[in-house]
Amino acid sequence: MRTKLIAGNWKMNIGPQKAAAFASEIKKATETSRAEVVLCVPFVDLQNVADAVKGSALRVGAQNMHFMEEGAYTGEISAPMLAEIGVGYVIVGHSERRAYFAETDETVNKKVLKAIECGIVPIICVGESLEQRDRGVTVDLVRMQTKIALGGVPGDKAEFVIAYEPIWAIGTGRTATSEQAEEVCLAIRSVLGELYCVKKAESTRILYGGSVTPENASELFSMPDIDGGLVGGASIKPTFERIVNFG
Ligand code: PEP
Repeated sequence: MRTKLIAGNWKMNIGPQKAAAFASEIKKATETSRAEVVLCVPFVDLQNVADAVKGSALRVGAQNMHFMEEGAYTGEISAPMLAEIGVGYVIVGHSERRAYFAETDETVNKKVLKAIECGIVPIICVGESLEQRDRGVTVDLVRMQTKIALGGVPGDKAEFVIAYEPIWAIGTGRTATSEQAEEVCLAIRSVLGELYCVKKAESTRILYGGSVTPENASELFSMPDIDGGLVGGASIKPTFERIVNFG
């Protein structure tokens, strides 16, 4: 039985002064949730949020990292640095990073490997554009993105999460139907079965992301292969508590 995972992606919102107070509100909501909850916050918020949620079930995550451990990479943050302040999860390959910061399947793979090596669970984002969906290549593309991201990742030792995020659904208010999301999450689970084994496929959490709201979360999360959500815009509103305590 997979424990649902709800990951809030604050994106570039909420500065360090307000982050702890908001995280504390969500911490309270998490006490009654049957899901594991993680807040993926801006780098500058990490320490404050880690302090605010200490001793609770609420986890702290980052939104990106560099694949090198240290060195002359001005402006970057490494996995050991994140681990040092108790970061448990990191989003890797979000479509906004792919689109605006030249993230590729290959850099995603390097980041996934480094995160796992440093004891951080990567939340690996995959998903198609509207044009790709219209061309009917969604499943092929997502299968390929998943395979490349997991190159060299040992299935028996490594924990990772896959987030299916159709690009056309992110921040648009146009949520995928639960059937569309389920179809792709199931396809991802079969790739995991091919790459590893049935046990690994069955134990890995696969999330849906793209305009999840308190109104549609329960239906999406009730699908057999959707193990929770990666939530952007709705995670920085007080009503995120309703998603944390979905249906
Ligand atoms: C996201 O940022 O990963 C996301 C899914 O955003 P939104 O929920 O706003 O669509």
